[in-house]
Amino acid sequence: MKHVLVTGGSRGIGRACCLRLADEGHYIIINYLSNKDEAEKTLEMVREKGSDGELLKFDVSSQQEVENALNGWMETHEGAYISILVNNAGIRKDALVMWMKDDEWQDVINTNLNSFLYVIRALIKDMLINKFGRIINVVSLSGQKGLPGQANYSAAKAGMIGATKALAQEVAKKEVTVNAVAPGFIRTDMTRDMDESQLKAMIPMGRFGSPEEVAGIVGFLASEEASYITGAVINVNGGLYT
Ligand code: NAP
Repeated sequence: MKHVLVTGGSRGIGRACCLRLADEGHYIIINYLSNKDEAEKTLEMVREKGSDGELLKFDVSSQQEVENALNGWMETHEGAYISILVNNAGIRKDALVMWMKDDEWQDVINTNLNSFLYVIRALIKDMLINKFGRIINVVSLSGQKGLPGQANYSAAKAGMIGATKALAQEVAKKEVTVNAVAPGFIRTDMTRDMDESQLKAMIPMGRFGSPEEVAGIVGFLASEEASYITGAVINVNGGLYT
């Protein structure tokens, strides 16, 4: 049994990743920001699959909260280490650059990019010592292509892609892999305000994707089978941009 941390595991893509990894019998640590009811629901669903886990509330954009929560977890779970990390928590605060407020820029960079450093720095040492680790960063089509109205989000996700490739080379010799998964349009709360009937016209597959379709590749990248894949960015976008 491996210990898995999924940031933003309470809903959407994060929940689907928790369930996919529970299928493998792993112990799932479900991080969330404020939606405890949904996080509890994820944990219930993990248990229905015969696996187990726990909730771990912290704000990924706060260095202090991340360190307190993860150091606290390590102290209470002596002998165990988190060997699989899915860096999934993310937010959107769209605005045209001309109108973008400082806090819209900073909140998105803090949550979607700075969290990379805070969470990984707390966990990477144990992965290196144990000579096994899987880090999967959930990025976005927006970070590859750039999307108008999302300069903050595109910048954060592009930054995460660069950081994924750099870290992959730093830790490869210790059998720790670092990859990114780049979804296109996926049906979750994050895209609830988008009109699928209109946007689907530009997607070659003619539809939004499901969280489970993202979780499938996350599950593979977390597995032993993916041992020679690192520094990769894998698109899950219905052919929208490849
Ligand atoms: P979602 O349904 O809005 O869920 C967001 C999740 O992130 C929730 O679990 C939320 O926790 C958590 N979260 C937000 N801010 C947090 C913080 N500061 N600290 C800890 N947790 C935080 O989003 P989603 O669509 O599943 O997106 C998941 C990831 O996929 C994000 O990184 C997003 O950028 C990326 N993505 C999504 C799409 C898409 O089309 N949906 C496309 C490309 C990339 P609470 O429940 O407590 O609020």
